[in-house]
Amino acid sequence: MSVAGEPSFRESVDMMFRRATALMDLGPGLQEKIRVCNSTYTVRFGVRLRGKIETFVGYRSVHSEHMEPVKGGIRYSLGVNQDEVEALAALMTYKCALVETPFGGSKGGLCIDPRAWDEHELEQITRRFAYELIKRDLINPAQNVPAPDMGTGEREMAWIADQYARMNTTDINAKACVTGKPPHAGGIQGRVEATGRGVQYALREFFRNPEDAAMAGLSGDLDGKRVVVQGLGNVGYHAAKFLSEEDGAKVIAIIERDGALVNEDGIDVEDVRQWMNRNDGLLAAYPKAKHVVDGAKVLEMACDILIPAALEGVINLSNAARIQAPLIVEAANGPITYGADEVLRAKGCVIIPDMYANAGGVTVSYFEWVKNLSHIRFGRMQRRAEEGRSRILVEELERLSNDQHLGWQLTPDFKKKFLQGSDELALVRSGLDDTMRTAYQAMREVWHGRPEVGDLRVAAYIVSIGRIAATYKSKGL
Ligand code: GLU
Repeated sequence: MSVAGEPSFRESVDMMFRRATALMDLGPGLQEKIRVCNSTYTVRFGVRLRGKIETFVGYRSVHSEHMEPVKGGIRYSLGVNQDEVEALAALMTYKCALVETPFGGSKGGLCIDPRAWDEHELEQITRRFAYELIKRDLINPAQNVPAPDMGTGEREMAWIADQYARMNTTDINAKACVTGKPPHAGGIQGRVEATGRGVQYALREFFRNPEDAAMAGLSGDLDGKRVVVQGLGNVGYHAAKFLSEEDGAKVIAIIERDGALVNEDGIDVEDVRQWMNRNDGLLAAYPKAKHVVDGAKVLEMACDILIPAALEGVINLSNAARIQAPLIVEAANGPITYGADEVLRAKGCVIIPDMYANAGGVTVSYFEWVKNLSHIRFGRMQRRAEEGRSRILVEELERLSNDQHLGWQLTPDFKKKFLQGSDELALVRSGLDDTMRTAYQAMREVWHGRPEVGDLRVAAYIVSIGRIAATYKSKGL
């Protein structure tokens, strides 16, 4: 979305970049090298559909190759354009550096309304798009590894993986050419929920630091916090579901394409999602909350945490001054424009920035890529050995208790949990949690350590750009 009088999405990302580099000691040449997008490939291809040839326009942009492969999703939307794809590719570079996934940044997009085509047609279109990218090494396990983004998911990734395998029959690492595949096609447990899960872990880490919460005028933990979420797609749905079902947060409003649902007593996220699945993705007649036609207005409602999880640019100069949330978590990429960011900062609103808040997706993509390259499921070798060692300890404790007549009893719940070795999902969650905690602390150190930094977004850019600069310096350009 581009708002009149505001810079484009790519310009907005550039301005945020410059705000951070102004506080860094990098030469202007290196700054420029890091900032610019290395290349954008545009493809126009035809597919014979419904008796005629349809032409589609697609992009794959590579922002930075300081590490390879480069990484980033492929988006299917009518709004896709070069500026957007380049902005998103830049954010991938910074995101990967911030959460230490060893990738450069890339992004792809196809101008298409995925709802306008049936499954078989989408498969033809996806395979053809993938063919165009594969033959130029813009999909390749060692060079460029796409993933899902808005409008794409496991199904599209499985088609892309299969297309690559057909064109590279002897590549033993073929499956690692794309992430976000379904588990039965080389995917990993926990990838679908990963971005939403990452938002949850980010918020938990934020509230583990009471001084940080206090900067947003908040205290305690997530229990009882009033949440407004915009977008009940993959990211917004999982984030809102986990926060409400596992952390006691209260989702008081959900904003979607056809307006918003509001209920101050809390909304059952799973119930709404089921409703949408049965009703063409519409909220309108949902019976257990008030339906508000003007969804944009609901972004401005009083709450503790606002989670924009849909499009870029939704908080802009036209509404920033009226946003009441003291804490915003950018689950989407670029939901706040540069201008709006300035307004919100001046108001004292704390923003957990996109490149950190939504990094759970690429983090678990990294685990999937490693799994594909190692050709073995995480936990397969260790799990039973781990359980065996735990069992020895439990049996020894029980023996001691019996022999010494101590009368100790391990509770059945403790025993069950303690004896359970980590399966793939448990390991993925552990790795994601560790990643989110570590990256938060890196940002926080800069945020609190340097008074001129002022907010988490600038801190995130400084950490990330610093790491990219170090890579360039050590390897040469
Ligand atoms: N599209 C997601 C993002 O914006 C995931 C990228 C990936 O897994 O490579 O971060």
